[in-house]
Formats: sequence, structure tokens, C-alpha cells
Amino acid sequence: MSASVNRKECLGNCRAAGEGARTLSLADMRGRVVRYLRLSITDRCNLRCLYCSSNARHSFIPHENVLRYEEMLRMVGAMQRLGVQKVRLTGGEPFARRGCGDFLVMLRRRFPALDLRITTNGTLLSQNLDALREARVSAVNLSLDSFDRQTFAHVTGKDMLPDVLGALDALLAAGIRVKINAVGLRTINDGQMADFVYAARSLPVDVRFIEFMPMGGDTLWSDTYFWPAADMLAAARDCTALVPLAPEPGNAGPARMYALPGGRGRLGFITPMSNHFCNECNRLRITSDGHLRTCLFADREYRLRAIFRHPRLDDAALDRVVQAACRRKPLGVDILKARRGAAVATSSMWGIGG
Ligand code: SAM
Repeated sequence: MSASVNRKECLGNCRAAGEGARTLSLADMRGRVVRYLRLSITDRCNLRCLYCSSNARHSFIPHENVLRYEEMLRMVGAMQRLGVQKVRLTGGEPFARRGCGDFLVMLRRRFPALDLRITTNGTLLSQNLDALREARVSAVNLSLDSFDRQTFAHVTGKDMLPDVLGALDALLAAGIRVKINAVGLRTINDGQMADFVYAARSLPVDVRFIEFMPMGGDTLWSDTYFWPAADMLAAARDCTALVPLAPEPGNAGPARMYALPGGRGRLGFITPMSNHFCNECNRLRITSDGHLRTCLFADREYRLRAIFRHPRLDDAALDRVVQAACRRKPLGVDILKARRGAAVATSSMWGIGG
């Protein structure tokens, strides 16, 4: 979609909001249109990945503040009404919340046309495979930062690589599309590119490296660990030939994807630090306590839970707040450039929903 078309859609949206009419899309002042929601269903996780979790003690969201599944269904309904077409459940670890599988199935029943996805560490997946199938999720993003058992335990704090590899096998056997996400970490998994290339060559999966982002007030991010995507790409090219792929029309995510000649899968790189994709950003995040975030790097939150639980506020009030928030959606790259210390946002990914 061209920027000029988006701008028109944006103006129409603003006008319609001014008239109190129902709108069809969430557009911002830069012409970007939100179609994608990342919904965190819990901030709890059974792993402690060193790029996500800090050494500091976590104070988790009190249970009474966490949205109930029924409230999340209402939230997704509101977002769909406003033009969202794709919803990803995340966390924390989504399967660490009791009933996550049933919730996926409820989402599918209530929203048959929704593109439904989930991001998981895979450790609790085996008991949820039937639900993933029944909910017809389009893809599962599986976090897997190393195929080496010791490195995996070092990164995640748990010796659970066999569980995750079991989950990967089970997903593929069930015919569910898998994307493996690995955070590239200098000095930790930067010597293991050959393992990832082997996975992308031998399995029908997308293997995507993500640059380590300085998220969280007490982040462990540092130059020591930061592995820029250009260097990751060079490491991959030392292992294999790579053929750049054009973005899929209408489904261009943030990853730059490459084919491996003769390979079954693809390799990709997500570059939030070295080559931002803010101009194409089409996503919102909602935390498990019902706070809306319009940019991963911005701390500003809009408290939708308060609207949801207010006896005199209805869906129209919710729509107005979400629309106003979207119009002001920032450019993350500006926040990144302006950061003084190491962190861009004070919340870590486990709290926001990665
Ligand atoms: N527990 C689930 C999982 O492990 O996939 C979902 C939540 S977790 C926060 C989702 C993903 O966020 C991680 O796998 C990782 O790819 C990403 N992530 C977390 N912290 C990050 C950071 N500081 N930099 C880059 N990616 C990060």
C-alpha cells in the first residue's frame, strides 16, 4: 500500500472520528495503518532468558489486574472492529497461563477470519498441540537461541533444549508453520551460525535472527553482547550461499529473508537496531494488564483496562482512546536515537510482550 493512499485513509479516519462515526481503520499521522495486535496474556515466564529478564527481582502484575480471558476476547473484538486482522499471543510465556490453549480455541470460534499466531518458548507446548491445531494458528514463533544444550541452558536459565526440540518436531509433524526466532548474542551464540543454517537448510522453517535490543531499565544489553545483523549475515554467508528474497506482498514483516539454494527453509534477520522498519510498523501491543503501547520503544501506555472495567464507559469510549493513541504512534527510531543510557524502554520484554 502506498504512503499516499495511507495518508488519505488517515485523513478519512480523523474526520470520521471527529464526527463520531464508526471508523474502519487505525491510522496515524504518518500514514501507517495498524492491522496487527500483539496481545500479552501473562507477564509470567518459566524461563529467565538473559536478554529479556534481568538479574533484578521481578515484581509481577497482581492477578486482579491481569485481564480475564473474557476481557481479552472483548479487546480482540474491539481491535478487529478497528481494522486489526492479525493477533499474536505472547507474554511472558503464553502457555504458562492456565487455559491458554482453550483461549486460543475461543478466539478462533469468536473470530473465524482472524490471522491467529503465538510466540512461545515451546517448553509447555506438548500439552497444547491439539489446541493449536483446533485454533488453526497460521504460524508458531518458537524462541530458540541455541542448538547447543549448554548454551541454551546458559541463555534461558533452564536445561530444556530437548523439550524445545521436541516441540519443534511435534509442530512440524502436525503441519503447523514454524518460525524459529533467535536473539543474536555476541560471545554467546555467535559461533553457532552453522547450526542455524543447518536447521534452515534441512527443515521447512524460517530461522530468523533478531538483534539484541536494550529493553528494560536494568537491561543486560551492552556492546559486548550486541551482534549487529550485518555481522550475523556475514557469519551466515561463511556457511552458505544466500539469495535475498523480495518481501511477500501484503505480508511484509520486519525480517529480511534469504533462501538457501537447495534448502527447505529460509534464513532471516530482524534489525530493530541497525536498520529500523518504523515506517512500515503496523502493530500495537497490549500488556496482560490491559495497557496499550503503540511503539515497542516508547514507555507511554494507555490504560484500556480502566475503560473496560468502568461501569459507564462503552466500546465507543474504547475506540476513541485507541484511535487517539494510534494517531500519535511514535517513530521508535527517534526514541532509539535519543536514548541517553543503554535502555530504550523501562519495561522489559517479558512485561510488554515480545
Ligand atoms: N516466552 C515467549 C518466547 O520465549 O517466545 C514469548 C515472549 S518472549 C518476550 C518473545 C521474544 O522476545 C523472545 O524470544 C525474543 O525473541 C524477544 N526478546 C526479548 N527480549 C529481547 C531483547 N532484549 N532483544 C531482542 N529480542 C528480545
